[in-house]
Amino acid sequence: MLKIGCHLSTSKGYKAIGEDAIKIGANTFQFFTRNPRGSKAKKLDLEDIHALQKIMEENEFATPLAHAPYTLNPCSASEKTREFALQVMQDDLERMEYLPSNLYNFHPGNHVKQGVENGIKYITDLLNKVLKPEQTTVVLLETMSGKGTEVGKTFEELKEILDGVTLSDKMGVCLDTCHIYDAGYDIVNDLDGVLNEFDKIIGLDKLYAIHLNDSKNPFASHKDRHEKIGKGTIGKEAIINIINHPKLCNLPFYLETPNELSGYALEIETLRKEYKY
Ligand code: FE
Ligand code: FE
Ligand code: ZN
Repeated sequence: MLKIGCHLSTSKGYKAIGEDAIKIGANTFQFFTRNPRGSKAKKLDLEDIHALQKIMEENEFATPLAHAPYTLNPCSASEKTREFALQVMQDDLERMEYLPSNLYNFHPGNHVKQGVENGIKYITDLLNKVLKPEQTTVVLLETMSGKGTEVGKTFEELKEILDGVTLSDKMGVCLDTCHIYDAGYDIVNDLDGVLNEFDKIIGLDKLYAIHLNDSKNPFASHKDRHEKIGKGTIGKEAIINIINHPKLCNLPFYLETPNELSGYALEIETLRKEYKY
């Protein structure tokens, strides 16, 4: 069975995410650990979390994916900004243990003017402070489009971050199809080539999750604007090839397309029909 879901809002609580997921035919989901722009996390309602867990178990959900606020900049030149990212991630990972054995994705950040090497060093320093041997969550670096001074636009940059982290078994990668296409990896005409390169540089065993998005912008545009499945420059055929690729087909897929719940339901239904396994 295809493991597919979409980004769902936690504004109505955790149980509501499970109910929304069922409603749209999903068997997994992504959620923000807190307001994506703010810093304050709501107090955890354990009863609500247990209700979600019950829905997940009864419906055999695949691993959900938590997404860190995208305003964090773990590789800022400002110590204060880095310290803030560290505190938020520490708090998030503690909270994640109430929903154990899951995935936590974050954007490596923007190095701004200090250069990518300094940026990578700050990210690995932060991860080496944040990760704990006893945690059950795997932390994922998201592949980025290379907009502005984003770190993580090439497999080599991600590999360098991974190599700097001591607790390497706590780390992995989340591949965003819109981002890597915008970054210049041609998943439309040469999916095998891109996956071979990923395997050679990072290792496919480090790939835990896929953000499944079409792109509003042309190949290698370094833009990062998501489009509905089949309505963008990647196109439906290439996306169907991605979910059916033997090296990807067992991974969980998370839609981050510009949709309301009904739009997500339609995309999930379409993709389930096209899934060959
Ligand atoms: Fe993201
Ligand atoms: Fe993404
Ligand atoms: Zn994006």
